[in-house]
Amino acid sequence: MEKEFVKSITAMDKDFAQWYTDVVTKADLVDYSSVRGSMIIRPYGYALWENIRDALDGMIKETGHENVYMPLFIPESLLEKEKDHIAGFAPEVAWVTHGGSEELAERLCVRPTSEVLFCEHYKNIIHSYRDLPKLYNQWANVVRWEKTTRPFLRTLEFLWQEGHTAHETDEDAHEETKRMLDVYATLLEDYLAVPVVKGQKTEKEKFAGAKFTYTVESLMHDGKALQSGTSHHLGDGFAKAFGINYLDREGKLQHVHQTSWGMTTRVIGALIMVHGDDRGLVIPPKVAPTQVMIVPIAQHKEGVLDFAYGLKERLSGAFRTGIDASDKNPGWKFNEYEMKGVPVRLEAGPRDIEKNQVVLVRRDTGEKLIATLDEVEEKLGALLTDIQQNLFDRAKELLEKKTSVAENMEQFKERLESNPGMIKAMWCGKRECEDKIKEETGATSRCIPFEQEKVSDTCVCCGGKAESMVVWAKAY
Ligand code: AMP
Repeated sequence: MEKEFVKSITAMDKDFAQWYTDVVTKADLVDYSSVRGSMIIRPYGYALWENIRDALDGMIKETGHENVYMPLFIPESLLEKEKDHIAGFAPEVAWVTHGGSEELAERLCVRPTSEVLFCEHYKNIIHSYRDLPKLYNQWANVVRWEKTTRPFLRTLEFLWQEGHTAHETDEDAHEETKRMLDVYATLLEDYLAVPVVKGQKTEKEKFAGAKFTYTVESLMHDGKALQSGTSHHLGDGFAKAFGINYLDREGKLQHVHQTSWGMTTRVIGALIMVHGDDRGLVIPPKVAPTQVMIVPIAQHKEGVLDFAYGLKERLSGAFRTGIDASDKNPGWKFNEYEMKGVPVRLEAGPRDIEKNQVVLVRRDTGEKLIATLDEVEEKLGALLTDIQQNLFDRAKELLEKKTSVAENMEQFKERLESNPGMIKAMWCGKRECEDKIKEETGATSRCIPFEQEKVSDTCVCCGGKAESMVVWAKAY
C-alpha cells in the first residue's frame, strides 16, 4: 500500500503560536526567506490575497477613487517635512545609502507609507477648488523595520493599498475618513467573515501626523485583538508643511484637508486566526481560491475520471472549482484540502455515478450531504452562502463571548485572566491611565467605539470622571 504522509499540526489549545505557524506553512500559504521577517507568499497564499485585493479594489473604485503608483524611495529631506510624521516613523525606516559603490548625496528611505510622496505630488497638481477632491489610491509594498515579526500579521515588507485624498473642507475629509473605514468593515465582515469593532484610536495610538485615526479591530481565537485597518483624518497639517494650497470658490487661498487609509496582507492573518481549527485553514467562500475541490473516489474504475472531469468543466462556470486526480489516495486528499481550508469537497465514485449523485462535504462543520446531478449547482450555491454566513455568525458569537465589562482594575485583571479577550471599560481620557493599564495588565486601548455604552460612571483606572468607554485588549 502507498505510504501516506498526512500533514499534522499542533493543536490550537496546546500552543496557539505554533498552530499559526504550522497552518501558514502547511497550507502552503508562505515560506520563510533568508531575510528576517520577510516572507515568500506562495501561489495559494497569493491567490487568496488576489481575491481579497480584487474585492477591496472594486469597492475603492466604486467610491470614486483612482489607482496610481508612486516611487519606492523617499529622500530624507522630504520625509522630514512633517514633524510628527517623521518622529513616529523614524525608528522603523530602512535607508538606502549607496548606489553601487557610490555614496548618495542624500539618503533615501524605502517607503514605510507614502503620505509625503502624495503631498509633494498634490502640491504640483492642486491649484483650484476645481481640482478637488483628489481621490487617489495605490497598491504597493512598503517596508517597516519591525522588531518582532510573524507571517502576515507583522512583516518587514508587506503588501497593501494606501489611499490618499485631498478635500476642500475639514468636513469633506471627515466624511471620507468614515466612508473608507466602512469599506474596510464591509471587506472584513462581508468577505472575510471577520466581525469588527469600529472606533477611534486614542491620541497615544493614532497615526503619526494625523488629526485622528479610525480603526477596525477584530478578535482572534486566542483572545488577542488585531488592528485590521485604519483610516486617518490628516486635517491640514501635511498641507501646511508641504504648501498644498488651492483657490477656493471665493478666490481665497486655502490649505487642503487630507485623509489616508491602509489595509494590508495582515488581514490574511486575521482570517486564519478567526476561522482556522485543528485541521488547518478555513477560508470563507467569497475569497477562497478554490471553492469546491473534486476528489474522485476509486478513480481507477472505469468512468470515474471522465465523470469527475465532466463535473469540473460543468461547475467551473459558476464556482472556482478544482480537481485532484493525482495518484495520492483519497484520505490524503481529504486531509490536504481540509488543511487548505477549501469550503466544499465534492466526492464522486462509482456508486455515486450509478445513482446520478455526488457527495458534498462542508469544511466548516464536516457535514455531508447528497446532491443529485440536476441539483448540484443549486445545492452548492446555497451551501457556499450558508458557510459564509455560518463563519461570520460563529466569529461574532466568539467575539461576544470573549468581551467582558470591568468597572475597576481588580475586575479588569480578573476578567482578562479568566476570559481573555476584549474588555469594555470607562476611561477618563488621560494618558497616564492608559499607560498604567498597559503596564499592569498588558492590554492596550484598541479603540473608543463609535457605539458607546456607559458601563460605569468612573474611570476604570483612577476612579476619576469618565469621558468615554474604551475597548481594551492584548493585541498582535
Ligand atoms: P498605518 O499606515 O500605520 O495606519 O498602517 C495601516 C495598517 O497596516 C494598520 O492598521 C495595520 O493593520 C497594518 N500594518 C501595520 N504594520 C504592519 C506590518 N508590519 N505588517 C503587516 N501589516 C501591518
